[in-house]
Amino acid sequence: MYIKICLAILLLGSGCTKNISTSMNTDPTFPKGNKVTNNNFVGNVYVQMFAQKDTVHNVSLGSVTFEPGARTNWHSHPGGQILMVTDGIGYYQERGSMIRKMRKGDVIKCPHNIEHWHGASPTTSVTHIAISTNTQLGEAKWIRPVTDEEYNVKIID
Ligand code: MN
Repeated sequence: MYIKICLAILLLGSGCTKNISTSMNTDPTFPKGNKVTNNNFVGNVYVQMFAQKDTVHNVSLGSVTFEPGARTNWHSHPGGQILMVTDGIGYYQERGSMIRKMRKGDVIKCPHNIEHWHGASPTTSVTHIAISTNTQLGEAKWIRPVTDEEYNVKIID
């Protein structure tokens, strides 16, 4: 009898442990996607698109993951863009402004036609959902890479 109770507790215990480990699952909500191979980015960047614009929705959206040091080139969006950071620590900068740190949970609205770039911090990767709004106004305009001098400035938290 005593042995049976111990066995039941043991089985129950292992079951509970399994449930706890499942609830602490750290898998990302969305897939990392495919590695970007075009020249609009520097470093290792992955994109998973979720939706393209269509006749009903004038937005396109996807998840972008930047490995440490990776970033977009300077660019602008005729219809604006919204970034929602889902993981990690990254940088966002608009022309003429200081670099802003972006962290998991941050939402950044990029005004239309404002030159800017976004990417990971030098030591930590970042993932954000990028929503291109008002896509009827045109595609992103790509300018030039962010130089190491521009990227490696001291950031004040
Ligand atoms: Mn952008």
